[in-house]
Amino acid sequence: MERLQKVIAQSGITSRRKAEELIREGKVKVNGNVVTELGTKVGTKDKIEVNEIQIQREQPVYFLMYKPSGVITAVSDDKGRKTVADYFKDIIEQRVFPVGRLDYDTTGVLIMTNDGEFANVLMHPRYQLDKVYIAKVKGIPPREKIKQLERGIRLEDGMTAPAKVKVTSIDKKKGTAIVELTIHEGKNRQVKRMLEAIGCPVMKLKRERYGFLDLRGLNPGEFRELTPHEIKQLR
Ligand code: URA
Repeated sequence: MERLQKVIAQSGITSRRKAEELIREGKVKVNGNVVTELGTKVGTKDKIEVNEIQIQREQPVYFLMYKPSGVITAVSDDKGRKTVADYFKDIIEQRVFPVGRLDYDTTGVLIMTNDGEFANVLMHPRYQLDKVYIAKVKGIPPREKIKQLERGIRLEDGMTAPAKVKVTSIDKKKGTAIVELTIHEGKNRQVKRMLEAIGCPVMKLKRERYGFLDLRGLNPGEFRELTPHEIKQLR
């Protein structure tokens, strides 16, 4: 048995706090009866309606995927391009969606789930875990530019938080470098924009780590279930 607000949030339609409001406002029915009590527990067989619409309940599932390049981080694409959700369609019965976003050409760690509440927690700005990115860049970042990234740099939508930055290799002949960047925010195209801002456009980008999760044992396009312990640690 689970608390009603948790089950509503898990279905992905809203946050737990909004679900509580909906319950208080009398907009939630359990087995046809309005329920306004926040502590109400429901089982898997109970029919739950929010604003007269029945919520879809599935067994929550959690996966770590190695996103390949050339795939959209979405559940569908109006241009018919392959999405990360396509990898799961014939393998599991639940419909999973990505937590956050990696660009079309970015590879690496992506969490997939059907638990909307879990996704909300992971994406909340106050919660955000460290993410480690490995970027191949054009140009060789000078020391003072690295310092700028470490302090925080101005992008068009504001300053970035201080980042950890390591230049792990330099190819002087080709004029390229490999930069390891650790950030906890999730602004749109953040890593590419940060490196662009110091004059080193990204040629290739991989998310190597998401909190304590890395890509060990996976090839691009493969995924594995998160263990109960990992799920608990992430919550
Ligand atoms: N930052 C980017 O610029 N792109 C990504 O895909 C992820 C982080």
